[in-house]
Amino acid sequence: MKITSSNLQAIAVEPKGYPEDELSEIAFVGRSNVGKSSFINSMINRKNLARTSGKPGKTRTINFYIINESFRFVDLPGYGYAKVSKSEQEKWRGIIEKYLSTRENLKEVVLIVDIRHSPTMQDVMMYNWIRSFGYDGIVVATKADKISKGIMQKNIKVIKEKLGVEDKNLIIPYSAVNKTNVENTWTIFEPLI
Ligand code: GDP
Repeated sequence: MKITSSNLQAIAVEPKGYPEDELSEIAFVGRSNVGKSSFINSMINRKNLARTSGKPGKTRTINFYIINESFRFVDLPGYGYAKVSKSEQEKWRGIIEKYLSTRENLKEVVLIVDIRHSPTMQDVMMYNWIRSFGYDGIVVATKADKISKGIMQKNIKVIKEKLGVEDKNLIIPYSAVNKTNVENTWTIFEPLI
């Protein structure tokens, strides 16, 4: 995919703040610090457009990035901070649920996981939630540069089993550092946008 432009178009919490047009969107979600911002930045060839999700307690927002003036990447707030209050968790859930349940532009929700680790309970819940809304359940297993090829296959199997991913091909090993599988990931995204 040739990227000609990428811009932060909107930051929203409520549906009234979502962009009002018909452009297709692919959304990304994952545990905080998993590498979601780095994934987005590396896919669109930017160093710093997507920012890390920040500190616990910081307002959680949905960030809409418009790419090539023709589709959007949507950065959903991360989860899994050790210390968040019940009310903050509820707020997070509300923000995501509203987006997932109302957004007609949304074509796919991609779960980002760390290829080094077995998915957490929250990853499993998030994946089930994504599937329950009818999405395919594409998984990007990032930080692949940190492990050997042999370990990679083993870990992909663990991720597949733990999350209950239907098809191994839905799990994409990825590295934002080495740009591993950037083009393959675009090949998977292109029919969606
Ligand atoms: P976010 O909170 O999910 O947006 O995570 P970030 O994108 O900020 O990444 C968290 C940390 O992991 C940062 O220190 C990144 O440099 C590092 N990181 C992200 N992706 C990769 C990757 O593919 N390989 C390596 N080695 N480090 C990564």
